Amino acid sequence: MNIERELGQKLKNGVKKNEPMAKHTSWQVGGPADYFLCPADLKELVEIVRYSDKYGLPLYVLGNGTNLLVLDGGIRGLVVNIGPAFCYVNREGSVIKAGAGTPMTYLARSAAEQGLVGLEFAAGIPGSLGGAVIMNAGAFGGHLGDKVLSVKLVSPAAEVITVERDNLLFGYRTSNLPGKGVLVEAALELKQGDEAESLKLVEYFLSERRRRHPDLPSAGSVFRNMPDQPAGRIIEEIGCKGMRIGGAEVSCKHANFIVNTGNATAADIRSLIEAVRQKVREVYNLELQPEVKIIGEES
Ligand SMILES: Cc1cc2nc3c(=O)[nH]c(=O)nc-3n(C[C@H](O)[C@H](O)[C@H](O)COP(=O)(O)OP(=O)(O)OC[C@H]3O[C@@H](n4cnc5c(N)ncnc54)[C@H](O)[C@@H]3O)c2cc1C
Repeated sequence: MNIERELGQKLKNGVKKNEPMAKHTSWQVGGPADYFLCPADLKELVEIVRYSDKYGLPLYVLGNGTNLLVLDGGIRGLVVNIGPAFCYVNREGSVIKAGAGTPMTYLARSAAEQGLVGLEFAAGIPGSLGGAVIMNAGAFGGHLGDKVLSVKLVSPAAEVITVERDNLLFGYRTSNLPGKGVLVEAALELKQGDEAESLKLVEYFLSERRRRHPDLPSAGSVFRNMPDQPAGRIIEEIGCKGMRIGGAEVSCKHANFIVNTGNATAADIRSLIEAVRQKVREVYNLELQPEVKIIGEES
């Protein structure tokens, strides 16, 4: 099997071999993907999924890489990046149909500009719509899952299917979509409202993020909040702010963020995650669960 020749020839952007995932994750760490593919359209994506199915090759879907810790040994098999080729926003009444590669801030602003309200909370979430639906991304009391009417997927058998709201389940930073295929489009139900008010809210949420979040590379909140208190508060209380392993540091600005101070490896970040969990275990007998997804192989 020659993936570059057999599959690469059919794709406008070809196939990249041993592509460093550090170039594609917000933490800026992560070893190579065996084969990295950026489909130029739905037809190419279907081709990629069909190929992976035919040869039993693992296929990992990457959005903007803002919720991922890719380990230093990288990812075996194919990584398919749903990016700019899947960026579009169409309106049908109070419903927005957008491509999975659409950046959330762009989408929130675009909805506001069209006088459709309800998505302002998502401004500043640095992920793509696909990643945000899969993760049921949320902020400031809003959750994306609440807005989703239906999603369009390329199933693992390479069929384009639509899943309606009745068959979708969303929980705290989870959905029942992982394993069901590659998300290519979502329909979101919003409400008609005031454009100026909505845009003001978008700008407010963006400024709140600038105020609260560190500037250094991160993956947002590392741990899931506990039912009764935010993980960041627990971590701050036990004095972990500023704790460091290699180039990874628990942010002094927001204790639930681990930042890459410049030369962190995935191993540094993973060790720091474990060190924080251990300290929380010792002091409070609580088990923090990572919100970020840890994928790939150790080096
Ligand atoms: C500074 C910062 C702030 C953040 N703030 C928030 C916040 O306020 N709220 C919040 O919820 N999150 C936040 N995050 C985390 C992250 O942005 C969200 O989880 C986001 O939804 C992830 O989207 P992504 O495109 O980056 O997905 P990725 O990180 O690329 O992938 C996440 C998961 O989704 C899957 N996936 C991605 N795209 C697709 C697709 N098209 N089809 C199928 N599977 C797919 C991946 O396989 C993976 O399992 C923050 C991150 C950073 C760096």
